[in-house]
Formats: sequence, structure tokens, C-alpha cells
Amino acid sequence: MATRISCSVVSILVLVLAIHQPFTVHSRSLKSTDPSLTSFQSLEGAIKGQTRHGIREVKRYLKAFGYLDYGEGENDDVALMDDKFDETLELALRSYQKFYRLKVTGKLDADTVKQMSAPRCGVPDLVHPRHVGTNATKPSKFRMVARYKFFPNNPKWPPSQTRLSYAIGPVPKAIPLEEFRGVCSRAFQSWAEVTAFTFEESTSGSADIVIGFYRGNHGDGNPFDGPGNVLAHAFYPTIGRFHYDAEEQWSFNPGLTETDLESVALHEIGHLLGLAHSSDPNAVMYPSIPPGIIHRNLSQDDINGIRALYPEQR
Ligand SMILES: [Zn+2]
Ligand SMILES: [Zn+2]
Repeated sequence: MATRISCSVVSILVLVLAIHQPFTVHSRSLKSTDPSLTSFQSLEGAIKGQTRHGIREVKRYLKAFGYLDYGEGENDDVALMDDKFDETLELALRSYQKFYRLKVTGKLDADTVKQMSAPRCGVPDLVHPRHVGTNATKPSKFRMVARYKFFPNNPKWPPSQTRLSYAIGPVPKAIPLEEFRGVCSRAFQSWAEVTAFTFEESTSGSADIVIGFYRGNHGDGNPFDGPGNVLAHAFYPTIGRFHYDAEEQWSFNPGLTETDLESVALHEIGHLLGLAHSSDPNAVMYPSIPPGIIHRNLSQDDINGIRALYPEQR
């Protein structure tokens, strides 16, 4: 019995490590102490062939969100350490611009710099198949389609699990717990209305989904980056973890500089159910949300996405 338990613990650990592997570069490179992280303004106008201070941060940013890949190991580390605007970076920028429906220039133009400086979800926009699960297919293709998307291999909750429980983990003192419970309940309800899922808060300690606030390195291989840039992240099915960056300015009713808790909850629950990022700016699953914006209604794209992932629930 003891052996069986330790085996399953090991396999869970191996799976978690495999899943977390893609995010380590993101974790390593996106440091809040680096001012170029949240503002790439000084690089506006940069083009291929130039060497400009801070280009390495652009490379790391694009790498973190799934757009740039120099290959595994040393090649990658060397390329990410220099400030040369090379061809790989130009290609990565083109695919970034395509995702965000910007003009595809391959340059660091004003619109691209502005988009890269926006607060956003920490989940990559393009997830390499080799980084998901244990049965990943060919390692050479990104999934890239218009609007809603799934993670590679379409991870989802099994048909037997439509009743999902959630628990609320650490919440900062500044955020009243009762009010926050209301945020979670409403956000889950929005998804329940368009699927066959039901969501219930668990008070017993064990739950399918756990939501909490964390800062910096918090043990899942995806450290938060302090104020700005990455706001939150969540994991695809059936990991069931949703983390807010505790160092952001959160609000139930955001002013100009604050971020709406409920809008972010709606987005992250989409990941928990298996939706990846959508390139539709009206979708809740769009990767970025500016401060002060409230986006608490699922769009048709979100609904189409979740129904396509769970056709048996229709
Ligand atoms: Zn996201
Ligand atoms: Zn986390």
C-alpha cells in the first residue's frame, strides 16, 4: 500500500514538473526590478540588424509568452543574453503582431511596444506541444488559429467530472474575504450558465480548484513579477490552480489604476476549464486587460470555445 501511494505521488510530481517546465524561462527572466520589463518604449523603432540595449528583454518577453524559440539548452541561453535584433526575433514579433491583430511589420513599432507594455495574464499565448502533458506530439508546431483556442492535446475535465468544487486559499487582509467569495461565485456562475458544469465552494479543505493570492516565487515554478505586467495565472485541466499576483492593485470596483478582480477571475476560470488565449479583443480569454476596465461578460467567442471543447455537454 505504502509503495503504491509513493508511486502515485512520484507520478504526480513528474507530471507537475513536466507541465511547469515551459514556464521556467518566464520565471527566470521577468524580474520586476528590471525597468525595461514593463516599458519597452525606449526601443520603439528598433528593426532587424540593430543592436540596442534592452533587446534581450524583448526576447525574453516573447519567449515567456510562447512566440520565440531558439531551441533547447545553450543556444537559447546565449541568444537570450544578447541585444542583437536577429531574424528569429523578427519572426517572433511577426507572430506576436499577428496574434494581436496589429500591423505585421516585424519591427518594434509604437503599437507593438504599447501592447507589450499592457498588464496581462501570465499564461503563454502560444503553448508549445512539447510543454504540455506527457503525450505531446511533434515538437515543431505551435497551435495558432484565430479567436478561441485550446491547449495542445486539448486537456479537459473528464465527462464524469461536471461538478467541480473550489476552495479559497490565501487572500490578503486588504481584500475582504466575504466580498471576494462573491467575486468567485459570480465568475464561476457565468461559466456554469453556458456549460453543464456546476461549481461549489468547498470548506472541507480538499477541492478540485484552489484560488489564492501569492507573491514572487510561490512554489509552482512560475514566480510572479511584482507590480505590473503579469497579473495572474491558472493551469489547464485538471490541475485546478488559479493564482492572483498579490502585488497588483486589486479592486472590486476598479479606478483608473486598479485591476478588476472579477474580470480576471472570469478569464482564469476559462483556463481552468481548458481554454487558452483568444486573439479576439472582445473575448474574456484575450490575454491582456488594462487597469480600470471591467469585462465580466463572456463573449460569443468564449462561449463557442467552451462548447467546442465540451460538445457532449451541449
Ligand atoms: Zn490567460
Ligand atoms: Zn502560481
